[in-house]
Amino acid sequence: MNLSIIIPIYNEEDNIQILYDRLNGVLASLGRSYELIFVNDGSRDQSLRLIKVLTERDTRVRYIDFSRNFGHQIAVTAGLDLSQGEAVVIIDADLQDPPELIPQLYHKMHEGYEVVYARRRSRQGESAAKKFTAKLFYRILTSITNISIPVDTGDFRIVSRKVVDALKQMPEQNKFIRGQISWIGYRQTYLEYDRAERAGGATGYTYSKMIRLALDGITGFSDAPLKFATISGFVVSGIAFVVVLYTLYERFIVHDYQPGWASLMVSILFLGGVQLIAVGLIGEYLSRLSANVRQRPLYIISDTNIPVTNVAPAAS
Ligand code: UDP
Ligand code: MG
Repeated sequence: MNLSIIIPIYNEEDNIQILYDRLNGVLASLGRSYELIFVNDGSRDQSLRLIKVLTERDTRVRYIDFSRNFGHQIAVTAGLDLSQGEAVVIIDADLQDPPELIPQLYHKMHEGYEVVYARRRSRQGESAAKKFTAKLFYRILTSITNISIPVDTGDFRIVSRKVVDALKQMPEQNKFIRGQISWIGYRQTYLEYDRAERAGGATGYTYSKMIRLALDGITGFSDAPLKFATISGFVVSGIAFVVVLYTLYERFIVHDYQPGWASLMVSILFLGGVQLIAVGLIGEYLSRLSANVRQRPLYIISDTNIPVTNVAPAAS
């Protein structure tokens, strides 16, 4: 098997047929053996039925049906775990990532790279708020992590079997796959593309899912927020110490002591705020730590047409 295409699916009934047609057209012209792995991440619409119809007509179509919605990153992970191709492409189902780029990714990889990711030159049909927060997030992430996670890049990419094997050795629960792939290393490069609008349906990435992904990315690859909490603790204590000296001076030397309600409120609120932020940051790390200690499987498969012998243990 030359190529596995991994497609996470969450309520994509409007896109599955067009996606299948476009992928098949592109891959036929590439002339390599391939499999399409649809990972149904707990869709509530007709997605699974449509995928099963495809499997009846085309033996290259595989599906993995989750017992519930586990999230996009976990869906991709399951696809990687069960893939067999020497190279693996990760692509969104909504046609925002053009299948027509796959041959270029494939050929670029064979110039001697283990990873070729697709970088967004522009994004269409997305709200200004989403574009702005995404831009900001990628830049903050690059500046506070010590590995170089490429900016403006999603999971649309091709990776080699070597990289897939390395990913399988990373058992963390809070997946941030693009970060993991950067961490793995090897020779990596990119191609640029213009990100299209969603073909049909609506985004499955709610704001809360996006915030969780962003926090998984930051906590998984950086301790900078914890250091920030420590430093702000020192800074605030420093300020408090100066204020204490000033208060004592006013009280005992100048004898010009005024009961100060405003300054009291300001310092209490400020200190309270700083403490809550610090505790919250610790909590973000702690909750991920406890998720990893529990060692639950990453996902539960309810049904698949991939032979069970290929099914790797979800977590080891
Ligand atoms: N997706 C998924 N599980 C989820 C949310 C999304 O598998 O909980 C899939 C979705 O079907 C699509 C891909 O992940 O193939 C990207 O999602 P989406 O297009 O909704 O995200 P956006 O492009 O808006 O960031
Ligand atoms: Mg999308």
